[in-house]
Amino acid sequence: MTSRVFEELVSALAQLPGVGRKTALRLAFYLVDRRELAGELSQALGAVYDKVRECDMCRNLTQSDLCEICSDRSRTASICVVESPADLRSIEDAGLFRGRYFVLHGLLAPLDGVGPEELGIDKLLEMVRETEAEEVILALDATAEGEATCSYLARALEPKVAQVTRLARGLPSGASVEFADELTLSQAFEGRRKA
Ligand SMILES: [Zn+2]
Repeated sequence: MTSRVFEELVSALAQLPGVGRKTALRLAFYLVDRRELAGELSQALGAVYDKVRECDMCRNLTQSDLCEICSDRSRTASICVVESPADLRSIEDAGLFRGRYFVLHGLLAPLDGVGPEELGIDKLLEMVRETEAEEVILALDATAEGEATCSYLARALEPKVAQVTRLARGLPSGASVEFADELTLSQAFEGRRKA
């Protein structure tokens, strides 16, 4: 089968992380075969596309102005800065942190056109002020881009907040926050140090 709509589906699937052209083709054939699943997926994707947006305060994903975490008044006065909503989820699921988060949706990559503006740094500084944060924890990947982003953020935040810390290297060099196991993450949290 080589219709145009089918090819469009394959091309879209091939853009997903970890999915090459071959896998995309296999998934597309599978979905064409499983009409009911294709319908469910299409509905779920439509709903996410229509309803999910960024929280006004922290850029986490939400269906309202403020996400559940920002609306929760029992959260402590600290902010954990993460690269992605997936990283937020990992830290939250591990129960390591009871403050609020800020989601950068990327890391500094000047060559790819990702600068402070794209990461919403102004918004982060505004959140620090509004929530009177006492500590900002930089929980970013132990990669070159993660390190560069940490250094930049530490410089920007230091005049505005009492404590800026970063995760300890319980996280091995090159490791991603999203895929770290709970033990590694919790060690990284406990051993956090001045950024
Ligand atoms: Zn929020």
